[in-house]
Amino acid sequence: AETLLSLKNLKSYFHLEENLIKAVNGVTFQVKKNEIVGIVGESGSGKSVTALSILRLLPTPPCQLSGEIRFQGRDLLQISERQMQDVRGGEISMIFQEPMTSLNPVLSIGYQIAESIRLHQHLQKRSAWDKAVEMLNLVKIPEAARRARQYPHELSGGMRQRAMIAMALSSNPALLIADEPTTALDVTTQKQILYLIKDLQHQLGTSVMFITHNLGVVAEIADHVAIMYAGRLLEYGEVHDIFHYPKHPYSLCLLRSIPRLDASKNLRLEEIPGRVPALNELPQGCIFHPRCPYAIERCREQEPPYTQVDDGHLTMCWRYDQLPQPDKKVSEPAN
Ligand code: SF4
Ligand code: MG
Repeated sequence: AETLLSLKNLKSYFHLEENLIKAVNGVTFQVKKNEIVGIVGESGSGKSVTALSILRLLPTPPCQLSGEIRFQGRDLLQISERQMQDVRGGEISMIFQEPMTSLNPVLSIGYQIAESIRLHQHLQKRSAWDKAVEMLNLVKIPEAARRARQYPHELSGGMRQRAMIAMALSSNPALLIADEPTTALDVTTQKQILYLIKDLQHQLGTSVMFITHNLGVVAEIADHVAIMYAGRLLEYGEVHDIFHYPKHPYSLCLLRSIPRLDASKNLRLEEIPGRVPALNELPQGCIFHPRCPYAIERCREQEPPYTQVDDGHLTMCWRYDQLPQPDKKVSEPAN
């Protein structure tokens, strides 16, 4: 499939007083047309900063962006702020964990969606309202015409997230960036929203960048996975390869710590010892070495380069070809 978005050596550095914080450090991966790419990592890994960098929503200074963000033939780091405004909310939409931060509490959701439609499609009020109701139908909100007149607080968390998705998709974006959109929801609602996003992606042909700390979520919907850690991309590949042939110890650790949705299987949750290092005190050598069960002397001294282990499968580890492959029971994506 054709590439929609291509990040090349993206760096988002923050110049803060004495410190240089490399929040995103040399990230390279693609999002193809019509696919879902899962960006996985613990908090502080640079997932959200990557998303905000793509939309150029970070204040510059202190943030300095470099590298390339190629999207539909242009480098988003080179175009004007005016052109960037057309990209935001037009060709690229974003949804967040907490819809209440993006929804206005004193306006009905139908009104808010209609206004966003009017902004991008120059429709009359009446047709924008009809389109808003149609969008609420599309995201499977029951009795959409009645719900459209309700205020955000009258909807459940799941319904609000659906409304946000409706608003985000109302401009027919080529790319939807979803930053932990299901994290605040209960497991059942979480699944419904995941499959809604997957369905809509199929139906509309929108590409999706799905940010999450849960590799299990990615197994449900993603085509490709990018594993991030302390600003670095540690592994990138097809979801099947990441689950069955992971080539980075961190991916292996994440696979073992996937919370089981089916509790009756009763697998033990294996926590990864240690924490993500603070970005202003990154270790020498491989940034994962203090937590890596496979670290050798060399890892403490030299940072490993990217290795292409297979077509479209990238890893950053000295020992990628000496790793154990995961126990099937643990790694099988839950379906
Ligand atoms: Fe572990 Fe070494 Fe690979 Fe880093 S380079 S992930 S420390 S084995
Ligand atoms: Mg985040």
